[in-house]
Amino acid sequence: MAKLSNHTCELKPHQMNNVLIVEDNRMVGSLLREFIGDSLDLNVILLETLQATKALLENDPPDFLVALLDINLPDAPDGKVVDFVIQQGIPVIVFTAGQDDSWHDKFWAKQIVAYVLKEGPDALPYLTFLIQSLQKNRNTKVLVVDDSISSREYLLDLFRVQRFIAFAASNGQAALEILDRQNDIKLIVTDYHMPDMNGDELTRAIRQKHNINELAIIGISSVDDRKISSLFLKAGANDFLNKPFFTEEFYCRVSQNIQTLEYIETIKDISNRDYLTSLYNRRYFFEAALRFYDLFKRQGNPFAVAIIDLDHFKKVNDTYGHNAGDLVLKYVAGLMQHRFRSADIICRFGGEEFSVFLTDVKKKEACRILNDLMLELEKSAIEVGENRVKITMSIGVCTNLQGSLDEMIKKADLLLYQAKEEGRNKLVCD
Ligand code: GH3
Ligand code: MG
Ligand code: MG
Repeated sequence: MAKLSNHTCELKPHQMNNVLIVEDNRMVGSLLREFIGDSLDLNVILLETLQATKALLENDPPDFLVALLDINLPDAPDGKVVDFVIQQGIPVIVFTAGQDDSWHDKFWAKQIVAYVLKEGPDALPYLTFLIQSLQKNRNTKVLVVDDSISSREYLLDLFRVQRFIAFAASNGQAALEILDRQNDIKLIVTDYHMPDMNGDELTRAIRQKHNINELAIIGISSVDDRKISSLFLKAGANDFLNKPFFTEEFYCRVSQNIQTLEYIETIKDISNRDYLTSLYNRRYFFEAALRFYDLFKRQGNPFAVAIIDLDHFKKVNDTYGHNAGDLVLKYVAGLMQHRFRSADIICRFGGEEFSVFLTDVKKKEACRILNDLMLELEKSAIEVGENRVKITMSIGVCTNLQGSLDEMIKKADLLLYQAKEEGRNKLVCD
């Protein structure tokens, strides 16, 4: 336990889950501590003065995700604490009672994460959003493309303050090369006028490989030419900013564009999955398995298609009710997710029938994996309320290449029916 002031707190030195709050109003301080500590599961260190902040940060401090600073402290009424904490490399959110506009501008000039007014009814939810964004940003890659060193460094700094993983390129070609190596970059901010390749040409080149719904591009230009924004947008940019811009506007656009990508990703994922089990649905299975089928066939790599059906599942519904049946389906889906590899496509084909596309496996290995799954289910007693439900599965597996994916699925289905006829709880492989 490190005694810091009359508020003490255990430090967790090697995690970025610490949040520093400097606030002399005890009521506000403890409200923030409770809210952030509980709703975000973060470790909050609450101090009341600049002096206590210096004592903490000058003395081998833990890493902080962010600092929330009141700019009117008893020993620093002018916001000195902000400069001090930024100097220690900690991103700062200024949290303040409504000062005049000059304060707003003065603190935004200091590379802060945000300037939040205490009075607003949305202050706490907004703080939560900001802190959660910082946590996510630590895993989010962005790329700055600008031929001017000073602009590039400026933009990089803006991103670093928000804890993004930021890359930089001084021209279009270099940007494309970075993008090839880091294909999980989420956002690119690019200048317009650059040697060799202009911003719109770069945008067009990026769009050959990266969809507007998966990678956001924000175009920037200092030239007072109204045409440039439409050139960017027509080339496939998501958004546009004129230089010079306010940092706050830049952050709003960055965050909105990233949020939009996240929404699209969530919607896509929901539409690809089965509601009950969260396994992939039939539509997605055909889409993804067809891609894999073509790829594996071309490369000559082995794979297998399996159709799995629960035995006498109707009896579960009839005996224990439909909800129990649902729980059994979820349980089986869980076993499957645990058993197969992440590269395999596991799907709820419909009702109590599942399909799996097993990647990079020869016949023997595919049958071993599936047989283990079958035995595991046979041994399971599935807890459903007060009951323990026993159930088995039958499996048909096709590993010999057929003329099409459909034919392989049909073949696996025929083998499944053979397994049913031969007594169920059985695997039949071609
Ligand atoms: P078999 O061993 O021949 O496959 O017999 P079975 O009883 O498993 O097969 P059948 O096709 O006769 O019955 C399947 C049942 O699965 C009928 C249907 O009501 C039930 N079912 C389908 N989807 C769901 C679901 O989402 N939840 C529940 N609880 N039951 C479902
Ligand atoms: Mg069945
Ligand atoms: Mg069935």
